[in-house]
Amino acid sequence: MIPTLGDGWVDIFSSYYINDQEGIKMSSSLLSQNYAPGREVTRLTTDDDEFRSQFVSWNLADLSYVDIQNYLNVKDTVLVPMASTEQHGPHLPLYTDTITAIEISTRVSEAIGVLHTPPLWAGYSPQHMYDPGQGRGTITLRSSTLLALMNDVARSLIHHGFNRIIFVNGHGSNVKVVDPVLRQLRYETGALIGFVRPYMERYVGVLEGLMENPPEETPGWHSSELETSQDMAWNPALVRMERAEDTRAHIPDFLPDSFSKNDGMPDVEFEGYQYFTFPMDHHEFVENGVIGNPMRATAEKGHEAFRRYSEHVAKGVLELMSVPVKVHTREFVDRVM
Ligand SMILES: [Zn+2]
Repeated sequence: MIPTLGDGWVDIFSSYYINDQEGIKMSSSLLSQNYAPGREVTRLTTDDDEFRSQFVSWNLADLSYVDIQNYLNVKDTVLVPMASTEQHGPHLPLYTDTITAIEISTRVSEAIGVLHTPPLWAGYSPQHMYDPGQGRGTITLRSSTLLALMNDVARSLIHHGFNRIIFVNGHGSNVKVVDPVLRQLRYETGALIGFVRPYMERYVGVLEGLMENPPEETPGWHSSELETSQDMAWNPALVRMERAEDTRAHIPDFLPDSFSKNDGMPDVEFEGYQYFTFPMDHHEFVENGVIGNPMRATAEKGHEAFRRYSEHVAKGVLELMSVPVKVHTREFVDRVM
């Protein structure tokens, strides 16, 4: 019986089973709701067919401990996708940022033959709660909870023998709070701790030339051209373009009109400079949750964005796998409370 969790989810599950019946091997994440029709991943490693053939999936949660032991005999790297479950405007799923993290981790895993964990699906999203009773659906973690979660996941992985932990982050606001836990993990264990954030916001990076929105239509911001394209690539049934709206950020009511704001960054502009920042809630600068114009989104752009990000991250992780790492403290002693 296929679980009924809404149309999109049924599509995901039924598509998986259809694919399976046709004998198309799903490269990763049999348990997670992972689905990107048309995904093509170029392998960046060679002469490793025998190693790869041992694993039915690159998602650690799909494997038994025998597989984990076999993996650790050869490699000590693991990816940890992390993001958020937060409102993404009227047309996109709350899972949008986590979709980015899962899809890129899945592609990197397939490209270079490394494991990833299931996603940390909630993040630091206090500004996306809106007023009580309004039903926006965001599930936020206090910063202390998120850091504790990341610590415990990484310390568990290091305990078992992983030496290189790469968090693949899909949610901008997590960046504001993660430094203490990344440092703590490094100082306390000696493991190689990495954090990569393959998304756009103001920084165009490897997506140069891909988005069609002009900068003032903020293609890389919340629920705009890029995120809508990526969700279309992942599962078009989850994208409700009939509800999509083209909107811009503005200065919150509690600030004077002499200040201005164009995107989702915490900083605002005054006299043409950006020295001031304020704690603002998302609905104070854009009521519907959409910062930009989602109307030029296409699944093709989403696939291409996923491809560029994942190839870049995969190459970087391959480099990181070649440096010596000495874990000095492996046992996760402080694991009870
Ligand atoms: Zn987002």
